[in-house]
Amino acid sequence: MSIRTLKKLRRISGKRVLVRVDFNVPLKDGALADNSRLRASLPTIQYLIQKKAKIILVSHLGRPEGKVVPDLRLAPVSEALARLLNHPVKQLADWQGEEVKKEIEQMNDGEIVMLENIRFSPDEQRNDSPLAHALASLADLFVLDGFAVAHRPDASVSQVAGYIPTVAGFLLEKEIIGLGKLLQKPKKPFVAVIGGAKMETKIPVIEALLPKVDSILLGGGIVNTVLKGLGYGVGSSLFDPEQTNVAAVYAKKEKIILPIDVVVGKKDGTGSRVVSIGKTPSTICENDEAILDIGPASTELFSSIIKKAKTVVWNGAMGYFEQKPYEKSTYAIANAIANQGKKAFVVAGGGETVEAIEAIGRAKDFDLVSTGGGAMLEFLSGKKLSGVEAVLEK
Ligand code: ADP
Ligand code: MG
Repeated sequence: MSIRTLKKLRRISGKRVLVRVDFNVPLKDGALADNSRLRASLPTIQYLIQKKAKIILVSHLGRPEGKVVPDLRLAPVSEALARLLNHPVKQLADWQGEEVKKEIEQMNDGEIVMLENIRFSPDEQRNDSPLAHALASLADLFVLDGFAVAHRPDASVSQVAGYIPTVAGFLLEKEIIGLGKLLQKPKKPFVAVIGGAKMETKIPVIEALLPKVDSILLGGGIVNTVLKGLGYGVGSSLFDPEQTNVAAVYAKKEKIILPIDVVVGKKDGTGSRVVSIGKTPSTICENDEAILDIGPASTELFSSIIKKAKTVVWNGAMGYFEQKPYEKSTYAIANAIANQGKKAFVVAGGGETVEAIEAIGRAKDFDLVSTGGGAMLEFLSGKKLSGVEAVLEK
């Protein structure tokens, strides 16, 4: 897989460069609750400043569904970006029209403007080609950097490349190369750790990884779906009622390793206890209790398998880690994978997964912490991502 990259682009100076970032950050009281998505695209933006390009940023924020939603204007994002860059970022009031064109014509080399939330346009998620053409006509070059949006068939992601020369920014390049390594000749043993809440979203990735990996360690709420499918009593545990049959089949696959014990209790953290999972289906917890974490013996077992791995990929929390005492296994597994980072190629991704890794300060010990949740899962499932296709050398 050969990628057209920003580094390979010559003569950027003075060019108008449209950059599709994913600055879809969580907002709280009108301010950013987390700026990691901004930080992830800083290398690309800083490089373009240094090369004296005229930088036109385009992003979406939230789900305005094709209408102008004042609370989803990008102004707080451009302010936060300006602070991070220590460089002015001019927020434009629109993404199209004469005013925008005039602003862009007047730009000096090294200046940055941010178009308004592109999902205010009903055409963005309709993947409309005239919108992509209008965006492309604002610039000479297109840099796609937001990996977290690369799986979206949206106009600003998938169609601009049809009109102007297009390359991957440093973030997108890093993601494609890092995740690509997992699929192309990964060093063995290759271990996948899959957790999280929604079984349905994990099935395609489990299916795609099965032939490539030596083992898949299952944790999180998806284990409850497996246990339910096998006939265990799971009380008020979170599970996916439509996937219990599919999930139960996984228990019989040799490569899939299930927990041998779980932590059950109340959602508020009270009444927690460890329950071993017997070979024959039984009641694991009562109706007013739920399975909220994998247990200490499972954590030991998973960690010992991770310790022998040469390649590890992790997506999905092992338990309801937002509530003590159900954080233990997620943090322990995060530490085990991070420790293995010295000897193995280790990758993790997914919104909550990354939160857990950052909570214990271990992001730096991973070879790649993917900014993509859905995009990472689709990539690992072997699907074609429109934002990746756009930067591949044909
Ligand atoms: P990611 O965003 O990392 O891909 P998911 O979105 O799949 O992960 O799921 C993460 C969420 O799953 C976490 O917020 C975690 O609290 C929840 N979770 C994991 N295990 C359980 C469980 N046993 N019961 C309830 N919630 C769980
Ligand atoms: Mg999530």
